[in-house]
Amino acid sequence: MPKVVVESFSSSDDETNGFRMKGKGALGGIRNPNNNCFLNSVLQSVCHIPQFGRYIVEIHQRSSNNCYGNWCLLCDLKHHFEHSIVNHVVDANWINRYLDDIFPNHIRGSQEDAHEMLLFLLDAIDRQQQKIRRSHPGKNSSIVEQIFDGKVRCEYTCQTCQKKIACYEPIRGLSIELPENPEFPPEMSKIVEDYFNDEKICHYDCRK
Ligand SMILES: [Zn+2]
Ligand SMILES: [Zn+2]
Repeated sequence: MPKVVVESFSSSDDETNGFRMKGKGALGGIRNPNNNCFLNSVLQSVCHIPQFGRYIVEIHQRSSNNCYGNWCLLCDLKHHFEHSIVNHVVDANWINRYLDDIFPNHIRGSQEDAHEMLLFLLDAIDRQQQKIRRSHPGKNSSIVEQIFDGKVRCEYTCQTCQKKIACYEPIRGLSIELPENPEFPPEMSKIVEDYFNDEKICHYDCRK
């Protein structure tokens, strides 16, 4: 697990910025009373991404331009983060009031797919931030876009005339394939490398 470093703003005397995680290694564990491992593992993962943790703890402020008020998922995440820094074990029941919005088809107590949960959670945060952005036009992209989104550049070379055409596709995840006969455990860097390998597209013609 990568070492998490959340240090206080040295430029501010604000007490809420007095968190220090350097050397602690990890946040507290989350209790799992209702088969919520899919949810807890996602919360743990996103909170351990240093850039996201720093944004939540140090930058997001209640009633700021990026805050959604009493139903602000980021404020509750911040609260969760603050608890997790100082406690060995915490509860994540606070998220229940958001679950109908985040994961509409989820039935309490049933297992879900963690990757699906992650995408739903990021979507929910992004939706909230987009709504705020519409009322404050000209603001920066959302924190989800900044940390989790990217673009893949695809370049096509026409075999008939050698013309190159490039296009950019926005992504929040890569649908990578497992190799047919993987060595065990399959190496992630190799799988990603395979994904970006050249591919021959039959009958491609730049004029069509
Ligand atoms: Zn907020
Ligand atoms: Zn061509």
